[in-house]
Amino acid sequence: MPIFYFKKNQMSLKKDIFLALSFRCSKVSIFLLLVFLVCFFSGCVAKFKPSQVNKFEPDGYYESVPSLGEKGYFVKKIAPEVYFFSTGVYNNLFIVTREGVVITDPMKGKGKLLKKAISEVTTQPVKFMIYSHPHIDHIGDAYLFEGNGVQIVAQIETGKALKKYKDKNRPIPHINFGTNYSLSVGGISIELIYPGEGHGKGNTIIYIPSRKIMMYVDAVTPKSVPFKNFAYTIDIVSQIKGIEKALKLDFDIYVAGHLNRPGTREEMQEVLAYYYASRKASIKAIKRVSFVDVRKKSKTKDVEHLFGEYLDTVAEECYKILKPEWKKRLMGFEAFAKGHCDIWISYHRTQKAP
Ligand SMILES: [Zn+2]
Repeated sequence: MPIFYFKKNQMSLKKDIFLALSFRCSKVSIFLLLVFLVCFFSGCVAKFKPSQVNKFEPDGYYESVPSLGEKGYFVKKIAPEVYFFSTGVYNNLFIVTREGVVITDPMKGKGKLLKKAISEVTTQPVKFMIYSHPHIDHIGDAYLFEGNGVQIVAQIETGKALKKYKDKNRPIPHINFGTNYSLSVGGISIELIYPGEGHGKGNTIIYIPSRKIMMYVDAVTPKSVPFKNFAYTIDIVSQIKGIEKALKLDFDIYVAGHLNRPGTREEMQEVLAYYYASRKASIKAIKRVSFVDVRKKSKTKDVEHLFGEYLDTVAEECYKILKPEWKKRLMGFEAFAKGHCDIWISYHRTQKAP
């Protein structure tokens, strides 16, 4: 009988509601407990299996992570005063001048190794620290180098982001520049160029003209397709413009922030060609796949599900167009190509029609 029909005073009504709910809750609890016990003993509790997320085929081209031994890093002189530091998957540059050391990107979890690497080649103190951009993985150990007069240099947007995050591991820059900044230390000039947002805000090209060396992080990793969703791009078209701008500089070697080696100009051009190809493939796929056809074949009555099926079909078609050429050329194709197609499909649906 519904509890509302009891003619009682308010207090006892509340008590009845409470008791009724308790009774219902206890019935529900007993039911849930029974379901859990049945599932537990029959093995129907879902278990995470790593193979579920790693079912894609291997790529046609790949480079293995090198064995780094107990040290966990290596350091290599790539030009006079300029050193390449790598922990296999992450990398950066540091420059040893007669007036002190300039470091770039004190990567999270690698700061102590970077200190060791610097001590292998010089006793000079660190004087400047350049942030390529504000992301934790690249500058998360900056706190290990702050103080002692070390000047931190970064683009304004990086400074703004770090002020917002209030992360003590990523101290706020002392020098915040807009479009360009020239840092001259011990006779070496380091040019900082902001090509605009793309991978993120504040992502800066670090260029040493006298050594023909450039560092541009997370936009183009040699012999690799870009990371997931174009390295979590916030603006894919501006990201491409940034790479085009970087390629206008006179350099022979570039440092990408990832991998165990620097890249060449040709390798940067190759990855840029992939950016263009993925855009073209997405346009072709959008034109080839008809929403009406997908709807005819679909068994779902859920409109959101239907849209998901349509977008997945377009991304799959785009991936198939790219596969014959790019799977054999660049690492990460199987892992990330469909995500790249997704980014372009969403760009063409929301920003610019194909
Ligand atoms: Zn990043």
